[in-house]
Amino acid sequence: MPFSIFGLSEPILRALQASGYSEPTPIQAKVIPLVLEEHDVMARAQTGSGKSASFVLPVLELLSGRRGEGKAKIRVLVLTPTRELTLQVAQTFETMGAFLAKKPKVVSLIGGESIGDQLYRVQQGCDILVATAGRFLDVLRKKQMNLSNLEFFILDEADKMLNLGFAEELDLVLVAIPEKRRNLLFSATYPQKIRDIAAKITRNPVEVTIEEETPTVQSILQRVIEVNHENRGPLLRHLLNTEKWEQVLVFMANRRATDNIAMKFKKYGFSAQSFHGDLDQEERNYTLEQFKAKKIRILFATDIAARGLDIDGISCVVNFDLPRSPADYIHRIGRTARAGKSGIAVSFIDHDDMAHFALIEKRSGIRLEREQIAGFERKGEAPKKVKGPAPVKGKGKSKKDRAREKKAAEEAAKGR
Ligand code: AMP
Repeated sequence: MPFSIFGLSEPILRALQASGYSEPTPIQAKVIPLVLEEHDVMARAQTGSGKSASFVLPVLELLSGRRGEGKAKIRVLVLTPTRELTLQVAQTFETMGAFLAKKPKVVSLIGGESIGDQLYRVQQGCDILVATAGRFLDVLRKKQMNLSNLEFFILDEADKMLNLGFAEELDLVLVAIPEKRRNLLFSATYPQKIRDIAAKITRNPVEVTIEEETPTVQSILQRVIEVNHENRGPLLRHLLNTEKWEQVLVFMANRRATDNIAMKFKKYGFSAQSFHGDLDQEERNYTLEQFKAKKIRILFATDIAARGLDIDGISCVVNFDLPRSPADYIHRIGRTARAGKSGIAVSFIDHDDMAHFALIEKRSGIRLEREQIAGFERKGEAPKKVKGPAPVKGKGKSKKDRAREKKAAEEAAKGR
């Protein structure tokens, strides 16, 4: 699908081409037409999905058709949680607006510069203001900013702003901007607090989510290594020392296990960290940044990292503990071999994992060779299955009885 199907004007198409964007990403394909049709939008989107351009392009398109004469007035306000995102969004507006007959004036407000200077730049005239939420409120309190011409109010990565106590300060922003405006909300997650914010600022928003991509696994070399449970740690260290794996993501069954093993591996001199849902958003972001920057080689994670984590450089995924479902297996191993690269996925199995792994293979339509690594061979026999006592017929309730009871309970509840 080319960008031209949205009816974007020639200067914008030219900027897209110059930036090497040939096709819209899924979030762009959904959001661009909605913004062009002037809907409020509530989108679930992650960093890396192309969400910035999904609002920048249609907003520029609409603005360019309506730019008035005289000094520029603030018509777009984008609030973000971080300096980096602020600068990145401002840059996207600049890049995509570069060929417009009247280039939009973009001002970004971040901490660290004098408020006076920033206010001066705003007052010199600007069409688009991109700001970190905190700094915007500081500037707003000076009461010297005219926001009465605002047409678009955009919150980017809204869930990350919650940590900064933004929900409480939002009211100050809302009284300063016109009631009639378009609202675009982007957030990776939608906890109740974000839904409350959305209800406060948007009007009949169209909700947009993108189907979670099913990873393609053709370019992943999948290996299954038979090893006793207690030998998995030593085997992993051996593999880390002998294989040429750079960035390694290791999946574990629970949070405590990830903390314990990360600590152990650090003692052995590996650069390792744990990653799980008990860490707050800031800690998780920090760990991911470190991992992306290759300052951490091994990330021990729970399934929280199985979906949506988009890191290009993961060369190997290890299933230290097997995932519960075949779908999780595919999502886990799909964290490697991203962005056209190849990758390796290794699963450790002991005797009592065999049946479960066979099921994963069956459901995924794969059949993999079992390997053993010299010095770490799996010992012992598969435990014999002990059959439980045969079910006593007529003792438990039949399916039909249970269904009847459920229905009766529902009827009773209705009648109440
Ligand atoms: P974002 O999720 O907005 O932070 O964008 C992630 C990265 O993808 C940025 O580096 C963008 O420049 C890039 N990008 C966004 N949309 C496209 C596209 N349609 N084609 C190619 N690259 C894109």
